[in-house]
Amino acid sequence: MAGSQRMLKRLNRMAIVRHVKARSGLVRGELAGLVGLADSTVSVLVNELIAEGWLRQAGSRGNGAPGRRPRHLELDPTRLALLGAEVGDDYLNVVACGLQGELLFSRMLDYRHTDLGASVREVAGLIVEARAAVAAGKRRALGVGVGLPGMVGTDGLLRLAPNIGWRDVPFGQRLVAALRDRRCIDLPVTVLNDANAAALSEHVFGAGPAVGSLVFLSLGYGVGAGIVLDDRLHLGHDGLAGEVGHTILKPGGERCACGRRGCAETLLSQKVISRLATGREEPVLHVAELVERLEQGDATLRQVVREAGEHLGLVLQNLVVTVNPEVLILGGPLSRLQGLVDAAVESLARLSGELPYHHAEVRVCRFGLDAAAVGAAGSVLHQALHPLAQSQAGGDTGGPLDRREEGESAETKAALEVANAMQEAGSSQHRGAGHGRTIR
Ligand SMILES: [Zn+2]
Repeated sequence: MAGSQRMLKRLNRMAIVRHVKARSGLVRGELAGLVGLADSTVSVLVNELIAEGWLRQAGSRGNGAPGRRPRHLELDPTRLALLGAEVGDDYLNVVACGLQGELLFSRMLDYRHTDLGASVREVAGLIVEARAAVAAGKRRALGVGVGLPGMVGTDGLLRLAPNIGWRDVPFGQRLVAALRDRRCIDLPVTVLNDANAAALSEHVFGAGPAVGSLVFLSLGYGVGAGIVLDDRLHLGHDGLAGEVGHTILKPGGERCACGRRGCAETLLSQKVISRLATGREEPVLHVAELVERLEQGDATLRQVVREAGEHLGLVLQNLVVTVNPEVLILGGPLSRLQGLVDAAVESLARLSGELPYHHAEVRVCRFGLDAAAVGAAGSVLHQALHPLAQSQAGGDTGGPLDRREEGESAETKAALEVANAMQEAGSSQHRGAGHGRTIR
């Protein structure tokens, strides 16, 4: 089959999966209308998707009429798996999820990074373990996403992980090699920033139709944002969008690790809260200790947390007017501090004023401390469902792009043209739009 035909088929297959994911219970005839294909073509593709574990037939909506009843389609939650890892500043977390984000395997461990090779091998070992666990459950793993604690460029390079001290590290390539050493092949690896991964946890695995635009604030040692716009991660020109921890809230303020002064991180990170509460730089209090101290009535800490929350409100206000998201989601360890969340919400309301514009719902994330790992797993599904964006990046997890209910066949044709143009250009480098970078 010619490359363009293969791509068109992938586009159509994944358009079908996207529709069923958005609206469970569709029947083949309805899908044919939605994707603009003949009933017979849809039937063939649906049968393939069922055989491969993407879809399954649910019971019929039967109205008692004689003859064959249409079979309702839903995502098959039993046969495929998505693997996700988060490399934290002082922990590793590896999960396996089903297509709806249900947790199948989870392993979190404290980890002190010393040299890169050791960290990569440790992550590879956990991924191999996760893959074996899902294989034992008769599931096929589609790929693994890895959330990294720093800036990840569109080339997949980890530019800077400030709290570990890694610079320009090809983490993904090293991981692929380490997996190969363990005879774990055929598992596409995608790397992305941890806040971007966390944003995908809410976008890909949300209940009901996906929220098209959201900002996920990751609050911990650092402060970062993952931004989803129009169903895609907004990565920015160099892949570095969302570094809201380095927006300047206080010109001339304290010096930040980035070299500037008065960044948001100098006012509301875990390190700052810990230092202001204890008067010491080290050790940085674990969030569980912060929670415990607050429960014991530590008034200084309560005030420190309140002020950090007010600064967070400022960051939220700036995001709301800049991005205009439907929802702002607070995650990361500090989102466990209710006082911080409350102060941020109050501060945002105060700063928003009376005008009925720019209102966004604010809520705490649903996956807790697993958000980045679960979202990294979600990036595998997100890529599979939008294949064109990474078709030249070497990914091989599934089919096509598109996000609209209408005009899909026109968009599919346009996508095919793009795919052809890319093929003719022989391009091996295509800036991935909307997710991380896949490495084989
Ligand atoms: Zn900074």
